[in-house]
Amino acid sequence: MFTVGLTMAHVGLLDVLDHHERQRAASTVAEADRARFLLGAALLRTVAGAMLDLPAEAVTVDRACSHCGRWHGRPTLPGTSLEMSVSHSGTVVAVAALPGGGRVGVDVERTGDRPVPEVVAWTIAEAQFKAGGGPGLTLHRLPPPAPRHVLTLATNQASATVEVVNAATLLPPATS
Ligand SMILES: [Zn+2]
Repeated sequence: MFTVGLTMAHVGLLDVLDHHERQRAASTVAEADRARFLLGAALLRTVAGAMLDLPAEAVTVDRACSHCGRWHGRPTLPGTSLEMSVSHSGTVVAVAALPGGGRVGVDVERTGDRPVPEVVAWTIAEAQFKAGGGPGLTLHRLPPPAPRHVLTLATNQASATVEVVNAATLLPPATS
């Protein structure tokens, strides 16, 4: 489980994205949304690259939507047993990685003015959905990655602990 703050977004991260991802970043008008997508895509590639022993830009990420074929679907890594899930909200981007395969879903939500239990329930539903739903999922309510944010992980790997790593130092640094 890897998290990073939105302040880590910089244009240099575009270099590790593929053509589709760069196009999507370019077509995202709202600046904060664009930064969250850019950082999420770069972090997913950086984490996957570290696990697959590849440069981040050399990782093949398939985002084809299973419903309409557009490039906004759940990211998968064809030809690997790596399962990943990405979530971003507020000032936080989170990436979960399951090296041995299995099911995993992560959801981070900024609470804002909403009651925390309401937001927690929402993240549980989202994490379960992203992990494919159904029985056999273990939920992990993780420490808040930033003030007023909730982070929940769902996986069918019943390991006792989930390590949360601040991934700021994993990302390519801003050069200017
Ligand atoms: Zn679609």
